[in-house]
Amino acid sequence: MNTASRHVPEELLEAYAMDSLSEPESAPLEEHLLLCEICQHRLAELDDFIQVAKSALAIPTETSSAVENETLRATRGARAAAGGMRSR
Ligand SMILES: [Zn+2]
Repeated sequence: MNTASRHVPEELLEAYAMDSLSEPESAPLEEHLLLCEICQHRLAELDDFIQVAKSALAIPTETSSAVENETLRATRGARAAAGGMRSR
């Protein structure tokens, strides 16, 4: 049993965090993550980084809710309305 001592390679962990792994690839990785606190921590850090990178690039994520979209639309609508009344 030496699989537990072998940590997940950085690029694989990155791909996993970005949800771009196929199931046969992610299955052993997930298994390792269940046992390995180090890799759990690495994934958490990568996750944070990717969330920041995603929001910086404004890539719509599946987690962004409809409520968020509504808020955005409402804000835009309010801005458009205010724009008509307010001169720059
Ligand atoms: Zn590990």
